[in-house]
Order: sequence, then C-alpha cells, then structure tokens
Amino acid sequence: MPAADTLLSTVFGFDEFRAGQAEIVEAVTSGRNTLAIMPTGGGKSLCFQLPALCRDGVTVVISPLIALMRDQVRALREAGVEAGALTSGNTEEETAEVFEALEAGRLKLLYMAPERLASGGTVNLLRRIGTSLIAVDEAHCVSQWGHDFRPDYLRIGELRRTLGIQLAAFTATADAETRDEIIERLFDGETPDVFLHGFDRPNLHLAFAAKNSPRTQILSFAAARKGQSGIVYCATRAKTESLAAALRKEGHVACHYHGGMEAQDRRDVEARFQREDGLIVVATVAFGMGVDKPDIRWVAHADLPKSIESYYQEIGRAGRDGAPAETLTLFGSEDVRLRRNQIDEGLAPPERRAADHARLNALLGLAEALKCRRETLLAYFGETETTCGHCDLCETPPEIFDGTVAVRKALSAILRTDEYFGAGHLIDILTGNDTDKIRERGHDALPTFGVGKEFDRRQWQAIFRQMMGHDLIRPDPSRHGALRMTQAARPLLRDETTIQLRRDSIRNAPRRPAVKEMVSEEDAPLLSALKAKRRGLAEAARVPAYVIFNDRTLIEMAETRPKDRDAMAGITGVGAKKLEKYGDDFLSVINGSSPPAEHPSRRALSGRSAGAVYDRLMQAQADLARGPDGMDKPMSCSASLLAKVAKLHSADLQTVKRVLGDRRADRFADAFHEILQED
Ligand code: ADP
Ligand code: ZN
Repeated sequence: MPAADTLLSTVFGFDEFRAGQAEIVEAVTSGRNTLAIMPTGGGKSLCFQLPALCRDGVTVVISPLIALMRDQVRALREAGVEAGALTSGNTEEETAEVFEALEAGRLKLLYMAPERLASGGTVNLLRRIGTSLIAVDEAHCVSQWGHDFRPDYLRIGELRRTLGIQLAAFTATADAETRDEIIERLFDGETPDVFLHGFDRPNLHLAFAAKNSPRTQILSFAAARKGQSGIVYCATRAKTESLAAALRKEGHVACHYHGGMEAQDRRDVEARFQREDGLIVVATVAFGMGVDKPDIRWVAHADLPKSIESYYQEIGRAGRDGAPAETLTLFGSEDVRLRRNQIDEGLAPPERRAADHARLNALLGLAEALKCRRETLLAYFGETETTCGHCDLCETPPEIFDGTVAVRKALSAILRTDEYFGAGHLIDILTGNDTDKIRERGHDALPTFGVGKEFDRRQWQAIFRQMMGHDLIRPDPSRHGALRMTQAARPLLRDETTIQLRRDSIRNAPRRPAVKEMVSEEDAPLLSALKAKRRGLAEAARVPAYVIFNDRTLIEMAETRPKDRDAMAGITGVGAKKLEKYGDDFLSVINGSSPPAEHPSRRALSGRSAGAVYDRLMQAQADLARGPDGMDKPMSCSASLLAKVAKLHSADLQTVKRVLGDRRADRFADAFHEILQED
C-alpha cells in the first residue's frame, strides 16, 4: 500500500497536510477509532479519503446529504479514485456500476445515505464486500438537541457493533455536550482518539457592525463584492425574499431560500448555488448543511445568529478552499430581544434554556468585544494562542470609555420604574424628554429624570444595546419585552466593579465601495481568463467549477504562472490525474500557446523528480541509439519502459538489467544505471 504522504501529492495534488490532518490520517490509517472535530473547510474529507486508499477493504462513508455525496464522489473520480455512492438519487445505471465495481473488488470508497441503514440487506452487503472502516461525516447529526438531528444516524452505532470494525467520526460542531453525545451513540461510550484543535480560520476576515439602516449596510457590502458567491443569512423568511429582491434590483444575481419553500424549489437553489459562479443566496439557517461549495467568498448576517456556535458554523461556510473570504455580522437590540424570546418560549427544559442563554451571551460578548474578534472567538473554543490582524477591531481599534456611571444611571431608571419599561421610554426619562407617557406616569418627578443629558438618544441606544450584550439587562417576554436587571449587574450597582463601553461611531458606508479583488491588479486579468477556462470545462463536463480546480488553485496559477507541466504539477490542488486532464488547457491560457506534445508516459511523471530522470534517460537512449560507436543496429525503449526505469530511483545494476530485459540491458543498462545513481 502506498504511503499517505505520497498519495497526498499524487492523488490530491497537495504539498502538505493542513493543521491537524496528519495526526488524524495516522490514527485512522492505523486502525484506531477516532473522533475528529475540525472547523468547516479544515479538510475533514481528506482524513478518511486518504486512509481509505492506504488500507485494504472498502471504506463506507455515511453522509447526510445526497448532493454532497455525489459531488464528493465526482471529485474523487476526477482525481482517479474508485468511489461510488448508493443513494436514492442514483439512476439505475449508476447503481449497477457501483455494484459492478464492488463485485470486482475495485471500489475503495462507498458513500451511503443513512436511510439505507434501515434496510436489512445493508449489513450483509457491507460484510460481503469487506468493509473495513466506517467513516461518519457530520457526526453531530446523532445529537437529538441539534437542529441537524437525523434519526437514521442512531443506527450507526449498531452497525459498528455488528460488523465489529473501526469507526471514524467527523464534525465541525465544537461543544462538549455534542461531543459526549457522539461518543455515547456511535462508540457506545468508549472514548475513541479525540482530535480537537485548529479552530482558527485564518483566511476569514471577521467583522461586526451595529445595525444602522441594515438594508443599506448589506447592499453596500454586497456591492463591494459583486460577482462573487455569497450567502446572506436572515432571521425571517419574509426578509430573505425582500432582501433578495433588493439585491437583484442592484444588479446582483440573487435568490432566496427558506424552509417554507417547496422541496423541489429548495433543491433547485442548492443546485444552482453549487454550480454557478457568483450567485448570492439570501436564506434562513435552513440553508445549511447542504452547502458544500468550497468557493463561497463571503457570508453576511443581516440579523444576529442564535449562538456563538451557529455564528461560527455559518461564517465557516465561506472560504473552505483556503482563499480569502469575508464576513460581516449585523446586530442590534431587536436581535437580542428576538433571540432571548426564542429561547424563553422554546420547549427545552430549564437547564437547556440556561445553556442557550449562555451561548447567546458568548456571541453578544463577541459582537460588543473591545479587542480582537478572533481572539475572543477562539478563546470561547479554548484556544489561547492566536495571531490575527485580520478583523475589524485589529484594523480599527474601537474608542473606549468608562461606562460605569452611564450604566448605573440606566439601571437606576429601570429599577425606579419597577422594571416595567422598554429602552425607548427609559431613554426619555434619562434625557428628560417631556412626553405624554412621561407625564401620565409622573416619571418627570423621578430623581433620574434628565440625569443623562450628556448623551443623545442614539448614544443611549448604543449604551442599552451594550448593556444587553453584557447581559446586565434582559427583555422579559411576560412583560412585553420590558427590560429587567440581571444578577450580573449587581456588582456595578454596588460600586464593586466598573465597565468599559465602546463609543459607537456610526459611520455611513462609502457610497461607491471599491470592488475587492482576490489577486493583485497585475494578475487579475489572468485570473479572470483562468476562471473563464474553468467555467467552459465545468459546463462541458457538467460539474461544478471547483471540481475542476478551486479558486485557491487558480489564484496560485495566476500568481506563479507555471511555464510547463512540471511547474504546473507543483501547484496546490493539481494532482497527477488533473494535470493530465486539464494541465494543458490552463497552461495555454497562461502562456498563450499549447505546450509541446509529450508522450503520455512522460506526462504521467510530470512534477516528480522521476520526470527529470526520464528526460535524461531519453537523452542517453538517443545517444546510444546506434550503440556506443554509432555503428550498431538502431534500438530504443518504449516510453512506458523508460517511465518504469525512471521510477526505479537508486536501484542497483541488476534490477535495471532485469527491468530492461537482456537485449536492451546490453546496450543501455550501464548508462541508465549511472543516471539513476545521480538522482
Ligand atoms: P470540511 O472539513 O469542511 O469537510 P473539505 O474536506 O471539504 O472540508 O475540504 C475543504 C477544502 O480544502 C477542499 O477544497 C479541499 O480540497 C481542501 N484541502 C483539504 N486538505 C488540503 C490540504 N492538505 N492542502 C490543500 N488543500 C486542502
Ligand atoms: Zn483581530
């Protein structure tokens, strides 16, 4: 069996493992049960695909989404790997083809929908074909608390027990609760090797902004990224439709997506998004797991997500290919009210609700953070060593002031009106605004009336929002959202602690935002040309563009401009199979003409040192074509024989002779052997 790092470059075209991959691949290859928690885009698939190729037997991959499986299978086949899927989406021919490959013992990876586990024949089938590893993608689907719960996932544990084989589970969901549930249900509580790290996504730019005409904020964010694929998440279905329409009016290609749509319409949007370059989908969180597009260039939240985990998962859909991607999350007091209500009015037991409030608090802490977003986010996941410089707060540190006195005034206004009012009325009291409601209630007689004139209305709104963000006050649904003080505020009232707040500078977005380019101005035209070539090839092959090459690979091509196949083979994402299939197409875009024809056997060696050796063998052969004196009968070796020799590396003379056969050995063995020694 070939070694993992050889296959990494020959099959997948990657130079090195990403953070965490090597350890996981090692554990899975050596037969240990594993649970790997890796961020979206971290490269989980490779962690079971590569071991599958290093081992005997078939690896069964259980994955919740048919479209996603089909794309993975397609991508594997493009890379020359024998993979197939058994799903309800198969045509009869496809299914027949999978069984044929299984019977012939050719198939290495079999993708399977969890629904199939319910059928009695499946266990027998898996046993008969020599399944040696079960890989479970999106393993958090066994968690009954998560919104991705799949009842059929509960059968996986039993399958593992019945077959008595190794299981490797993968998920991007980080919290300890879900992790324990996975271990319980998939591994019968026997703790596997757990890999948990690398939650940083350095290529994602992180930014939050307080809402201030949110529609304009989203439109100008999208305008600066025109033509790039993106997702806008909204809290309501109605908003997805209106915002998508607004984007279309501005000339974007955009559509909406939510759980209230017909299943077929939803599938259409998913399929379009997967295939088209530059589509914007405006969606509720229902647009989630089915999204497996590696080249999403941006994710914006028009409303605050429901927890820090959801936030992380949703922004994580951007930039899975490792190329730069951007995120923007809008938030306001109304969001806090909405999210708190959803938790309070949900059906979960009280301890669950308390945990949900805590997760929301963590997100609000991030929204109101005073320093680096990345540091704050990763600290929540237990990572302390971070470098950033790539978030809004690192780029423009916020102006901070001591907000202790202001917060105390606000709390006092709340307490003196018995926690029965919302921010609007409380701000009227603080700023001494003489309204009918104030007079009716006699609130102009309160000692707090007019004590907050140092701030205007908008500034007080920002202070209240930050107080909600620090969970000092919460809206009470049973009092129509009136603000009530929490325990966390007591130390402030008692003068035991102080609080720093951000002075919100609400700057209006520039009217004509510059379009962001992924490469320098100089390389941009070449990148567009490469993308156009990719689009043509993808359309002809009826696959999504990234199945040919992803953005990151094209960016590297545009920046390094490989001259020939050898240089092309050095580009990340260009494996042997893809080099053979598409290398020339892209080389001719870069260099303006087709590279000279090469024999296929030589071509298969492109990029490896064996390629250079082959060239020298060819030269030696030409020199000796008529023997050392140029007097003998002409003789040569076939290209495939030369390729075979080139791959012998530092073999001894005997081996070289054996490979060449007697007749050719007489003429070439010494010379070839010498070349191999030089290598
Ligand atoms: P996820 O962890 O979300 O399932 P994927 O397995 O889809 O992520 O991988 C995300 C992207 O990263 C894919 O485009 C994949 O080709 C790429 N990738 C994975 N491993 C590497 C690597 N070692 N070097 C470069 N790119 C990689
Ligand atoms: Zn930062």
